[in-house]
Amino acid sequence: MSECIFCRIVNGEAAASIVAETAGALAFMDINQPVPGHVLVIPKAHIQDIYALDAATGAEVFALTIEVAKAVKAALQADGLNLLQANERAGQQDVFHFHMHVMARYTGDRDRVHLGWHPHLPARAELDALAERIGSLMDAPDRADEMGRAGAERIGAEFSADRAAEEMLAVLAEVANSASG
Ligand code: 5GP
Ligand code: ZN
Repeated sequence: MSECIFCRIVNGEAAASIVAETAGALAFMDINQPVPGHVLVIPKAHIQDIYALDAATGAEVFALTIEVAKAVKAALQADGLNLLQANERAGQQDVFHFHMHVMARYTGDRDRVHLGWHPHLPARAELDALAERIGSLMDAPDRADEMGRAGAERIGAEFSADRAAEEMLAVLAEVANSASG
């Protein structure tokens, strides 16, 4: 029996509430429904994450995801919808078999579904440098290791330095606020 819960679902060895399937992709209800209408769409083959996904399988999974999204919207009269996809532990992936989350959203549901990140708006030169660095490694992920850690670490350090400054400004603003009020 497979170690992977999603492979067990594909093989019929674990129960799941199936929504739809194609030759290579399967859509089923997530066990966790923070709001009604949380569906997972997976490749039937055990593919760990986005880095291991080939374009043809990805296209099949995404085509099914589009159909599921429209059906969720129609079936539940959702006000909105999110597609989410997690990779690696740092990216908050918990099940290491590639999956798209299709999540219905409803007006006023933010106490049950949180999405978000802190604002950080770099200068154009910084955005250009990031685009150049990422763009230069398209179709050549192996060179990423070669180009290596140094540049990435420098970028990370600059971002955390910015973050520290932003946090300090936020604290100062809070102090000023409480002093005046
Ligand atoms: P991740 O955090 O990896 O992006 O998402 C994993 C998802 O798989 C979670 O939303 C979790 O609720 C769902 N999940 C985990 N175990 C099972 C299971 O046995 N059956 C189903 N249907 N969903 C599962
Ligand atoms: Zn699997």
